[in-house]
Amino acid sequence: MAESFSFYNSLTRSVDEFVPRIPGKVSMYTCGPTVYHYAHIGNIRTYIMQDVLVKALMYAGYDVKRVMNITDVGHLSSDADTGEDKMLAGAKREHKSVMEIAKFYTDAFFNDFCAVGNKMPDVIEPATACIPEFINMIEVLLDKGYAYQAGGNIYFDTSKLDDYYVFSSAIEKEQLEVGVRDDVEEDVNKKNKTDFVLWFTKSKFEDQALKWDSPWGVGYPGWHIECSCIAMKHLGKQMDIHCGGVDNMFPHHTNEIAQSESFLGHRWCGYWFHSNHLNDRAGKMSKSKGAVLTVSVLKEKGYDPLVYRFFCIQSHYRKPLEFSFEVLDNAAATFGKLIKRISELGEDGAVDDSVKKDYEARFREALSGDLNTSMAITVLYDALKADTNDATKLAIIESFDKVLSLDLLGHAKSLKEGASDIDPELLKYINEQIGKRAEAKKAKDFATADEIRNDLLSRGVEIKDTREGVKWQLI
Ligand code: AMP
Ligand code: ZN
Repeated sequence: MAESFSFYNSLTRSVDEFVPRIPGKVSMYTCGPTVYHYAHIGNIRTYIMQDVLVKALMYAGYDVKRVMNITDVGHLSSDADTGEDKMLAGAKREHKSVMEIAKFYTDAFFNDFCAVGNKMPDVIEPATACIPEFINMIEVLLDKGYAYQAGGNIYFDTSKLDDYYVFSSAIEKEQLEVGVRDDVEEDVNKKNKTDFVLWFTKSKFEDQALKWDSPWGVGYPGWHIECSCIAMKHLGKQMDIHCGGVDNMFPHHTNEIAQSESFLGHRWCGYWFHSNHLNDRAGKMSKSKGAVLTVSVLKEKGYDPLVYRFFCIQSHYRKPLEFSFEVLDNAAATFGKLIKRISELGEDGAVDDSVKKDYEARFREALSGDLNTSMAITVLYDALKADTNDATKLAIIESFDKVLSLDLLGHAKSLKEGASDIDPELLKYINEQIGKRAEAKKAKDFATADEIRNDLLSRGVEIKDTREGVKWQLI
């Protein structure tokens, strides 16, 4: 029997008790990455928090099936159907074909996605694999009168809906209406400013590289259609939870709902899970800004990707989170201390099941209270302080790590075997210096890079550059 579980539902704007359509089973859809560039650590924050949701549901006894798309076609440089095609821009930038770009950045994405402890989705589907499904949905929308053809393109007619702005309050709706009016480059084919393209055969911007035959001519899909079709292909005509970042709410998810529910004639998805952004001091991290900080770069700078996960889950998913190397260093030091404490636990004694169950219940309760991950970590610290034997504590840690996925026992084991009593302050210093050295090397300041290496050596720390990034050991 699955336990009760609650989280904030953007559709009802309240923390709702989750009731799946089939008891004990969850069908979940996640908007996947656009693969014209590397996913930055902000994107990865979103996927970490979704992974925690998946694992928290599993911990509560649910069987979760999760589907993710890969946007390898159709996303223009503005969410509002205008501008250059992002994939084409990526191909031009790197002198590669669009499909080579898609493959390269999809692989890079999953590399970083897995490095932070995320479970792979059960189904991963690129948009380019589902063109017949898109065409079918568009044909039905045309038949039902929800779509129209103009200037060679097919548009969704948002005026056919009573409530288009499903995620917005009356005030937000007004702001969005003004925003849409001011923001969008004029497309004279649209009957309403909020109408969106389902299929392009003509764009006044430079054309797509990939095109397919369709009943309306050779062309390519708009961005939003892929998520509706891929979700229905693998999860059926209704599903339980749809996930994404807050920027996806409008227009992407709003448009997904518009077309899906018009196509189906009924409610499509009852729970919408949106996580907030990672910002740096300059504001929201954005892939389209160009130079991006990735998990792989963090690794090159000497950070353990799971320290980044730890940093993310210390905060609530609905709050914006500000990134700086200083706060990451603090997270690394706290994580180091936590691992040290775990590594000091012995293995003697029998597991006290009733104590373990008590803590598991508290942990589940924290997660079920709108995914309160910082509270879940507090329960972990409480368990470490509990009046019980070490074997029970280790069993509790192992249990919690099914959701936290910080490889707590693995890290503790390595610490015991390797650099046994490293001082957390020294650990913090080492990470800082490795970061500074990476920056110096990037700036071709090899003298500083060598100075840092020698300084660490004088403290008994040897660093090595490897294919997996910088490694260090105590000598
Ligand atoms: P994209 O590949 O740009 O479509 O983004 C992939 C996912 O990352 C989407 O769910 C976005 O909502 C999310 N996202 C984009 N920017 C950020 C950010 N700065 N912080 C957290 N998540 C983000
Ligand atoms: Zn989507």
